[in-house]
Amino acid sequence: MKRIAILHTGGTFSMQSDDQGLLTPGNYALDYIQKTVPPLFNAELHQKQLFNLDSSLFRPEHWVGIANEVYATYDDFDGFVVVHGTDTMAYTAAALSFFLKNLGKPVVLTGSQLPLKMKRSDALSNLISAVEVANSSDLREVAVQFNNTVFRGNRVKKKDAWDFDAFYSPNYRTLVKLGITMEQFHNRFFRPASGVFEIDTRLDPRVLLVPIFPGFDYTSIVPAVEGGSTRGIVIEAYGSGNVPSDDPGLEALFKAAADHRVPIAVCSQSPAGKVNLRLYKVASRAEYYGLVSAVDMTREATIVKLMVALGRYADLEKIKRFMQLNIAGEKEDETSD
Ligand code: ASP
Repeated sequence: MKRIAILHTGGTFSMQSDDQGLLTPGNYALDYIQKTVPPLFNAELHQKQLFNLDSSLFRPEHWVGIANEVYATYDDFDGFVVVHGTDTMAYTAAALSFFLKNLGKPVVLTGSQLPLKMKRSDALSNLISAVEVANSSDLREVAVQFNNTVFRGNRVKKKDAWDFDAFYSPNYRTLVKLGITMEQFHNRFFRPASGVFEIDTRLDPRVLLVPIFPGFDYTSIVPAVEGGSTRGIVIEAYGSGNVPSDDPGLEALFKAAADHRVPIAVCSQSPAGKVNLRLYKVASRAEYYGLVSAVDMTREATIVKLMVALGRYADLEKIKRFMQLNIAGEKEDETSD
């Protein structure tokens, strides 16, 4: 009989209204879940509460805490479900996908739009579907199960704060669909190069996200680069990686970053599609200064990957190389262009 771990971290899933009617983490209904969910499965289900937080309060330490728990109990379970708030689920999923190398089991994040104890809640059905995927699928990667659809964890974005269909993965097709039966799209699953399962949670969170928009004074962030408080930058460019290349402030930022050996990755404000710094003349300044294209990575995955790259490497070229590689299925392979 398979053994599945359910790791609770909070989110709307466990919330209740406080005196002022604001949703806040409530008493975790572990007993209720224990009575309701395990009888549905021919598996042993073990619950553990790691945190009980609105995921907006998560910091990288929480990602590390979840990864360490999976690593410490890896041999005890056949699959893992992580119950998590929806707001930062994409960041946690991306982080876990980089931390947990050569995963041989599913790690499935889920959550809900309405609390478990509220009428019409999606919490129980999301949890049950996530357990089904952890128990019966052939996934060996970090995934997000929401509204009966399973996505690669480092490809998801939260797209809707109202609809039960809250997530999508604009640049990668879904991995599993749960209808009357569970349909697995095996050819889309991530298969790491063979190796032993290991964990590497090193990261440096000193990453700055710079969205490009008309009129922004880019020189206002140069001191952060020169003063050392920023170790890496993610530029969120227009469309296929375009920036206002005639802007002297942006040029000053690129130059300061190059002088201080601060890597810059370029992702796009358009969720679907990919960055191509060789398409428009306005993007060529980015190429000139050695900026790295995030290609089709989400903003969330790009930020987390840059943190991880900074934690693992001191050498600028190694950091850039790491950003270019497809580590955990987070981007298309460069060779497939
Ligand atoms: N603020 C909540 C959280 O991320 C939202 C949710 O869970 O849906 O924890």
